[in-house]
Amino acid sequence: MKGGWNIHLKADSLWIRWVSHYYITHASIWSFDAKKTDSPLWKSIFSLRNKMISLCGGVAPVQQLLSSWQSGQCPFTANAYEFFRHKADPVHWANVVWEQWSLPRHSFSLWLAMLGKLRTRDRLQFLSSDSICPLCQNADESHVHLFFNCDWSSSLWRKARHWLKLHSNMSSLSRATRVLQNNKKELQPRMRRVSLAVLVYLIWEERNTRIFDNTANQSRLFSENFRFYFTLYYTSMKKIT
Ligand SMILES: [Zn+2]
Repeated sequence: MKGGWNIHLKADSLWIRWVSHYYITHASIWSFDAKKTDSPLWKSIFSLRNKMISLCGGVAPVQQLLSSWQSGQCPFTANAYEFFRHKADPVHWANVVWEQWSLPRHSFSLWLAMLGKLRTRDRLQFLSSDSICPLCQNADESHVHLFFNCDWSSSLWRKARHWLKLHSNMSSLSRATRVLQNNKKELQPRMRRVSLAVLVYLIWEERNTRIFDNTANQSRLFSENFRFYFTLYYTSMKKIT
């Protein structure tokens, strides 16, 4: 869009002079339209222009907006990115998933789980593979089942909640994130948010190990893994708070 605005301003550059002479001639950037045979860059300028006109409700508001981007403190491209980027509705679990103390791989697993994007067996039915949960062998595998309808994972989550002194009923990820969401920066609330991400990561890792390596940790060993992570975090974070 910066290119289109520079054409409007008749900026002094070889490219602007060339397109003004070769393409636009006597027309204006606001009344001109690209042809099917034009280059992708040229077509994208007009596609963005049309999108802005449609969103802002006319040419004049677009010109005002672009002018403010040009003279504002933020770079033009930063304003353009903010204008065009897709803005999803805020989610209640953002500060739980993206807790700064969590390791990126733990946050990433929790994020995928919240979005329902882990490759659970109910999402792979086109492969005609086994749909049974490899943790409990007792029900079909899905996000809702793994977190935390599954007997195997729910007993671990119960144990973890006991360590974390969490007494609320948190039988699903949605419920857990609603309880843990807050802006508190003290050690305990942060450790609780970290722990949920660690637990989801370890459950998913254990599930994959059972399917792909055909080996299984006993829940006791799994609990020790969790405690190891928890203690590691707790002692290291306690030193810096
Ligand atoms: Zn299960």
